[in-house]
Amino acid sequence: MIRFARCNALLSLALDASGKGCRYVAKGANDDEVVKDMTDHLTGVHNVEQDMKANILASTKTNNG
Ligand SMILES: [Zn+2]
Repeated sequence: MIRFARCNALLSLALDASGKGCRYVAKGANDDEVVKDMTDHLTGVHNVEQDMKANILASTKTNNG
């Protein structure tokens, strides 16, 4: 069982490094790992500096498998 959050659920108009809609999915064994993974992605790829933790947690879901 993993937890995951999709970038385009947080930033609906986000584009990836190639200029296409961002399909990045942050994954982790728990919410803290998902938040860290996604925060690194948002900062590094989208230059998002604000604290997105609450938004990430609201978009984080569980994947059985
Ligand atoms: Zn992204």
